[in-house]
Amino acid sequence: MPQQYAEVILPLPLNATFTYRIPEDMVQRIKVGQRVIVQFGSKKFYTGIIESISPIAPEGYEVKDIVSILDDFSITKHPQLKLWHWISEYYLCSIGDVYKAAVPAGLKVESETFIELDKDFEEDEENRLSEREVIICQLLEHEGKLSTSDIEKKTGFKNSLNIINHLISIGAVIVSEKLIERYRSKKETYIKLMAEPGDSDGLHKAFDAVKGAKKQETLLLALIEMSGFTRKGAETLEVSRAQLLERTGVTTAIISALAKKGIIEVYKKEINRFQFSGVVTYKLPTLSEAQENALNSITDSFSEHAITLLHGVTSSGKTEIYIHLLSRILQQSKQALFLVPEIALTTQLTHRLQKVFGERVLIYHSRFSDNERVDIWKKLLTEDEPCVVIGARSSLFLPFSNLGIVIVDEEHESSYKQYDPAPRYNARDVAIVLASMHGAKTLLGSATPSIETYYKAKTGKFGFVELLTRYENVTLPQIETVDMTIARKRYLTNGSFAKPTIDAANEALNNKNQIIVFHNRRGFAPMARCKQCAWTPKCEHCDVSLTYHRFQNQLICHYCGASYPLPTICPACKEPAVEILGYGTERIEEEVANLFPEHKILRMDLDTTRNKDNYENIIEDFSNHKANILVGTQMVTKGLDFGGVSLVTVLNADRLINFPDFRSAERAYNMLEQVSGRAGRRNTQGKVIVQTSNPSHPIIDFLKNHDYTGFFNHEIEERKEFNYPPFTRVIYIYLKHRDNNTLSEIATIYASHLRQLFGNRVFGPEEPIISRIQSLYIRKIMLKVETNASMAKVKKILRNTYEQMHQLPRMKGMIVYYDVDPM
Ligand code: ADP
Ligand code: ZN
Ligand code: ZN
Repeated sequence: MPQQYAEVILPLPLNATFTYRIPEDMVQRIKVGQRVIVQFGSKKFYTGIIESISPIAPEGYEVKDIVSILDDFSITKHPQLKLWHWISEYYLCSIGDVYKAAVPAGLKVESETFIELDKDFEEDEENRLSEREVIICQLLEHEGKLSTSDIEKKTGFKNSLNIINHLISIGAVIVSEKLIERYRSKKETYIKLMAEPGDSDGLHKAFDAVKGAKKQETLLLALIEMSGFTRKGAETLEVSRAQLLERTGVTTAIISALAKKGIIEVYKKEINRFQFSGVVTYKLPTLSEAQENALNSITDSFSEHAITLLHGVTSSGKTEIYIHLLSRILQQSKQALFLVPEIALTTQLTHRLQKVFGERVLIYHSRFSDNERVDIWKKLLTEDEPCVVIGARSSLFLPFSNLGIVIVDEEHESSYKQYDPAPRYNARDVAIVLASMHGAKTLLGSATPSIETYYKAKTGKFGFVELLTRYENVTLPQIETVDMTIARKRYLTNGSFAKPTIDAANEALNNKNQIIVFHNRRGFAPMARCKQCAWTPKCEHCDVSLTYHRFQNQLICHYCGASYPLPTICPACKEPAVEILGYGTERIEEEVANLFPEHKILRMDLDTTRNKDNYENIIEDFSNHKANILVGTQMVTKGLDFGGVSLVTVLNADRLINFPDFRSAERAYNMLEQVSGRAGRRNTQGKVIVQTSNPSHPIIDFLKNHDYTGFFNHEIEERKEFNYPPFTRVIYIYLKHRDNNTLSEIATIYASHLRQLFGNRVFGPEEPIISRIQSLYIRKIMLKVETNASMAKVKKILRNTYEQMHQLPRMKGMIVYYDVDPM
């Protein structure tokens, strides 16, 4: 066999795959999609993915060998790699970036640096060891080889890497690389009888052995029953220790006793992490006539359009329709992907779907532990069982083999867009591509479709189905505005609440209803300032004012996470005059507690939902009326379904409406309509109060009438006039640098280079609203290309420009990246 070479994808932001020689003993075993370990550079090992194999030797450099193969199987399935390439092409990023985003960390072995003592080293005048260095050397002498993190743990030294680097530089220690595999499968303990089924003698002996020991007997009986040991002809079932203990209420000591007597065997077994324990009805919801019609229209539409939009008002029962579609897909033995924009939404949805589909439902998102994610990945890899995966955007990357449908719920949501790091993709659009690679259908659902999607549906590019009545014909909520300019003038406010808002809240609460208070800002107060000299604390690394968080009693930067103490004395004028200004959800919660002291309050924002269970607890507690008031950021606006909410209040609509960006009107309308959709979902009409200083703004008018179409017609005219999507495709080119002058100069040259090629399709450079993040200054160049322009061509020009620019010495330290279809 001739020598073979492999193209390997590495998790690096480099625009290429890398060629490695396949050692002879591996040639037979190697496959596309397999994980291999290769060396890159002089010190690092990486897990790469085999992209292709060929006998053609690369020219001009020496190729390294593949170090080892990690599994005997491919960890990807067709067309996954094809999708990775599509993403890398379309979103102008490297294939390595896509690989990094696509594969859970547990499947990416990474090298960790190990340190050991160099026996030949001697301390002398030139190479004196510091006290800390001596401690580290003694530790290494004692323990041999240690990882850098172990050294930190054992010495308690923080940031020991500097010390270690010095030790390396003077030759006291040497570095070696050892690979760590992170993934651990989950094991559970099981119990079984030593006697084989049918061995009645053995069983008698067992009972004799526990005579007089009541608890041991109980356990034995339970085990026999649960395993179906005596059931004729049936296979025995495995019984876990946890189940057995729960059933019998005995302690593990009893299990040990039985094991000692040789009656039972205790063994460990790898299990999957997503067993469902609730009640499964396997019953599809009965659809209303309107829903039935919509379902039929969707099926009809799919025969002509692979992609169809379901425009269904809030609480029209879109989920019910999805469930029917999913069940059809499962009946065809196919897989389905159900995308949701926000992890918070998986909770309620999972319950609803599991009730119907039981263990066919799998959940996948970034809040899951890595091990859990690897488990799902492996399950899809090895089984072709029909299933429904509910997931946030990263679930697009799972190894599906047989997709029949992809449902993108709340398709308008900006959280489908990944901003950072690359790939900066929109999961809705990638979903469409993924579905088409599988020959599957895509259903986009929303009460407030994105302008682009609605336009495509209206112009016949997508199929279009409408469902404009709520389930059981509940009327859409009534929307009232409170003019805050007037309210403030007449002293009709109490903190951030206007009097009419408080009255409405009292009325709702007195009627035993729940209310939602929406405020799109987290923390206690968005700003601090000196009353005397107007000094405001800013982040050292970013160009933003700091938010005061009362719980931590810290000023926190929402862009880089840095925190600072709140100064009591102004550092500028030395007066004790620093005050905090404005309102965040933390402060609103406090106000609400003062206004409605006899009601329990829940708060849902980034700070209260740091881990997976927090979300679920808040949603569950609110559903179960453990609290009557829910305060929250945009997290409360989306898809949640609470029965008891009769009032939604929006405390500051201006902030949504006045954002300077071509999508701000769309975003504001969507958010306001969606949050109002949380009101009055059962039986009675709900009410929404919007506080604004601009009640005559056209968006507010459309909102009052729930007039999505009116809003669309208004907005699409603006887009047309100013040449924005869907009439063009927008690409932002970001430049970042530590030095503002260098950046400013280079950005201007960059833009003029681009102008020579793209003409008046280039705008900028401009400083974004937040012009410095994490010590890097930022400039943005906007490119508007025709929607039908070839992305391959655009990409080529952009890449050429980058390479030309790269010749300039001042480009050193410049970060350049693209955001295609920014949101
Ligand atoms: P949407 O996703 O369109 O906002 P949902 O699917 O959440 O609406 O439905 C709103 C509420 O109405 C849910 O509580 C849901 O259970 C109920 N509902 C909708 N359709 C039906 C149906 N056909 N049978 C029973 N309940 C339904
Ligand atoms: Zn001051
Ligand atoms: Zn910062």
